[in-house]
Amino acid sequence: MSALATSVAKHWIDGGWADSGEHRESVNPATGEVIGSYAMAGPKEAQAAIDAARRAFADPVWRTDRRLRARVLNRMADRFEERADDLVELLGRENGKTHDQGRLEVAFAPETLRFNAALALTDTGTNSQVTDGELSLVVRQPVGVAGIIAPWNSPVALGIRSLAPALAAGCTAVMNLPWQTAQTNSAIADLVGGTEELPAGVANTITGGHLSGDVLVRSPDVPTISFTGSTATGKQISAAASDHLKRVGLELGGKTPLILFEDADLDQALPIVVSALIVFSGQFCMTGSRLLVHERIADRVRTELAARLRAVQVGPASDPASDMGPIIDKPNVKRIDAIVEDAIAAGATVLVRGGPVTEGPLAAGAFYRPALLEVDDNSLPIVQDEVFGPVLTMQTFATEAEAVALANDSQYGLSASVFSRDADVPLRVALALESGSVWVNDWAKLHDQFEEGGFKGSGVGRMRGFAVIDDFIEYKHIRLRPGTTSAT
Ligand code: NAD
Repeated sequence: MSALATSVAKHWIDGGWADSGEHRESVNPATGEVIGSYAMAGPKEAQAAIDAARRAFADPVWRTDRRLRARVLNRMADRFEERADDLVELLGRENGKTHDQGRLEVAFAPETLRFNAALALTDTGTNSQVTDGELSLVVRQPVGVAGIIAPWNSPVALGIRSLAPALAAGCTAVMNLPWQTAQTNSAIADLVGGTEELPAGVANTITGGHLSGDVLVRSPDVPTISFTGSTATGKQISAAASDHLKRVGLELGGKTPLILFEDADLDQALPIVVSALIVFSGQFCMTGSRLLVHERIADRVRTELAARLRAVQVGPASDPASDMGPIIDKPNVKRIDAIVEDAIAAGATVLVRGGPVTEGPLAAGAFYRPALLEVDDNSLPIVQDEVFGPVLTMQTFATEAEAVALANDSQYGLSASVFSRDADVPLRVALALESGSVWVNDWAKLHDQFEEGGFKGSGVGRMRGFAVIDDFIEYKHIRLRPGTTSAT
């Protein structure tokens, strides 16, 4: 990774590295070992990045030359592809992801960049001859500097998910990436910033937290915010951004139900249920955290799923035998376990206790074995609140209507899975679910050409798909009366 990382992971502002002077240590969550140091951004660095992006937007080159933007995005895609192995290794060391899961994340970046390169070239707008000889046309113009705020659970995929459409639209951008992944952020900054033909100041990357993020949200020079993170922070950002009536795209938390109907193929479904829980150690907005099971197959599911979860091997990314890496840090292990303890005290039945690894060589890391709890009260916090860890609740239902009602009884509406071999049930249920994505006999399948986002408390607006561009453009209606009607 040496070619991608600087000795101290720094910010990329106005076409070069910038150091804020406040240096902190990056830690491997699997071992507790220090793996490097980084410069932490505060308001000053955020403002410098905004100023650079504002200057770059004032120069018409970027916002008016869509062919340049497409070339740059495609070249950026190549660069992410060329350095994919390095990014996977870095995500393993700093973010705890197993290499398989790291590859899953990193593979998104070039796909997303290439889709958005195509999007930059396919803006044909609309026009109409409204009355004889008079023409209306709608053009789409970039809104200005885009403020991008992403969480630590998938900085490569989620940073690029917002940056690529911002750049495709002709915006310039400031990405505020989280300090927990400072080394990875610096690699992202290098790959993005070093792209040939990218003008200085168009894409700035800082490593920070809520203080630098808040500067983006409150700046009058940043008319749009693309935020990925928790629902609680999304609400704060939405409120703060309203002072300038700025546009806010929010990709927030989730509490994904996995619905197993009586005719589900359990041999196919249960491995997917396990993956839905353990990918990114349950620190995934789409983590399958609520299992709803038809009562007639509940006994089999209890037994077989418990066995599968007990067999999950937790371990560091450096061990190819690991199925699941660590949690991001030890405070989060403690937080997750307190939620499980509270649920048990409130009446949840333990099917698999799981919990923190406190003995042996893994005890120095932030490891948490998967847990499965059966509950019958849908109002319990463990069912209603996002745990952001490998903790699954199981509930039973007797009818399709009951399954849909349980799934929809949630503040969230990000995603859901339906498992059934019936021809009619899956589509009927998918249409009834209050959810931005629904998978049938599958989980977390995302494609750049299809919209992704949340209903209800899971968000506002959409990432991916053709709708992604809406966070970054203004529509302008131009009415033309060329004078042809009075010609003689
Ligand atoms: P978080 O909301 O605590 O923080 C997200 C980012 O926002 C961080 O970079 C943080 O520094 C910044 N931030 C925090 N407070 C801020 C403020 N007041 N103003 C500006 N910036 C601020 O979330 P997290 O713990 O880092 O990430 C986990 C959450 O993200 C989970 O809820 C998860 O479901 C969600 N998430 C959603 C998606 C999605 O696509 N819907 C994807 C991944 C993660």
